[in-house]
Amino acid sequence: MGFAIAIGLVVGSFLNVVVHRLPIMLERAWRADAAEAFGHAPASGELDAGEPANDLTHNQTNSSPDDGLPARYNLWLPRSACPHCGHVLRAWENIPVVSWLALRGRCSQCGTRVSVRYPVIELAGAACAAAALLAFGPTGKALAAFALCATLIATSAIDLEHQLLPDTITLPLIWAGLVVNLAGTFTDLHAAVMGAVAGYLALWCVYWLFRLLRGVEGMGHGDFKLLAALGAWLGWAALPQIVVIAAVTGAVVGLAATLSGRMRFEEPLPFGPYLAAGAVVTLFAGTPLYAVFV
Ligand SMILES: [Zn+2]
Repeated sequence: MGFAIAIGLVVGSFLNVVVHRLPIMLERAWRADAAEAFGHAPASGELDAGEPANDLTHNQTNSSPDDGLPARYNLWLPRSACPHCGHVLRAWENIPVVSWLALRGRCSQCGTRVSVRYPVIELAGAACAAAALLAFGPTGKALAAFALCATLIATSAIDLEHQLLPDTITLPLIWAGLVVNLAGTFTDLHAAVMGAVAGYLALWCVYWLFRLLRGVEGMGHGDFKLLAALGAWLGWAALPQIVVIAAVTGAVVGLAATLSGRMRFEEPLPFGPYLAAGAVVTLFAGTPLYAVFV
């Protein structure tokens, strides 16, 4: 169990890198494509005015090609550094949770606050590893469950911060779910395929319904792909429960955020984290909600 928690912390630490760097990498790739297509790199203003061709065009902040980061920038290079002063983390400063606590959430060099997101994601990784081991024992199934949870942690954090569910995560997650269920790990292959299709179509229908009735885009296309992936992993029968949990928790949080004035009512809520929460509950607890209604 201690080993599983340690693995969870280390993986959580890697998830932090993904959460921080993947959106930057995606935006760079998108800018490079745009520069190739239009012959020049678009200015930030043009980003919003342009056609919303994909999920990347939502909000954006800094990082033009001259974003001050090295040309070779991926999940492995360069070494982790403070984004404020560039201080490269020493080995001990990379230790999950402990280093954040020891430094009281500040950069050791310049004292800039380090987001609480870092230890939270690391602890979430550890919790998922422990839960997977408890629920499924030392099996391949536990490993698969942990991989799903870890991926959902990263997508949720990216969605919360950037209102973006990257295709580079959601699409492989669909294939992975189908492959994992080739051997009937979480559900049979038939239910997995139907789950992937139904998950996508369900939110696609909701999206168009909203658009036709109210003329608003209630959610992003990334949500369809994420629910398709969850259907592929957990089977079509899990989808109603996942959506109900996501809708209820999302509504509660959205209402609370609106009432406390932290959000305007029309603002779209990132739905990915709530779908992920519904999936994690379903993964570990099965479908207890159905017992209430049947
Ligand atoms: Zn610093």
